[in-house]
Amino acid sequence: MPLNDLTGKRYGSLTVLRRDDSRLSGDAFWICRCGRCGREKSIRGTYLTGPRAYKDCGCSWNERKADLTGRTMGGVSVMERLPENRYGQKTYRVRCAVCGAERIMVQHDLLGKPRDCGCTARAETNERLRNQAADASSRSIYNGAKIAAAFAEKPMPTSTTGFRWVRWYPRNNCWCATFRVAGQRYFKYGFETPESAYKWAKEEHEKAVKEHGITEKEE
Ligand SMILES: [Zn+2]
Ligand SMILES: [Zn+2]
Repeated sequence: MPLNDLTGKRYGSLTVLRRDDSRLSGDAFWICRCGRCGREKSIRGTYLTGPRAYKDCGCSWNERKADLTGRTMGGVSVMERLPENRYGQKTYRVRCAVCGAERIMVQHDLLGKPRDCGCTARAETNERLRNQAADASSRSIYNGAKIAAAFAEKPMPTSTTGFRWVRWYPRNNCWCATFRVAGQRYFKYGFETPESAYKWAKEEHEKAVKEHGITEKEE
């Protein structure tokens, strides 16, 4: 089948100069000059004719794509083109649909159609940092450093609780009870209240005294 020679034909701003001899297999390509930008470009013949034919070399589309002003990219509305940043990237003033804030974003990130200005990721990071800070602060409470602050609403725990054998156990942030009977030390911690610690101690003490009959000086 003889090749339909397009040389000299005009399609929109494109003028066909000659067959592209570097691409001989498959569809024919044609070197075209674009009257819009003056450049030459190799274009597939089937893209020159037909309902969706190119009207220029692609320069008008590239220019539209080059300026995102007025467009919505993902969850971000592009308000205004700004001067390039110091890395030579195109930047824009944008408004984020998620947080409502105006921010500056670069073209590269906008072309990826971001779901927001980055606020969701920032919020997650902040939440994680807050949790870490809270964690660290509760650990220091655990170590006994901030007991007064943490228990401000309760009476400050001291070793004198009003309950015999009972005292505050800062290492585990709880109450403990300890006593000695016949040379043996009885100790338990993990009580939430001095009352419960005392209840345990009283019962154990009674049992121990019944068993040994001797009570030693309290610790
Ligand atoms: Zn062009
Ligand atoms: Zn946002």
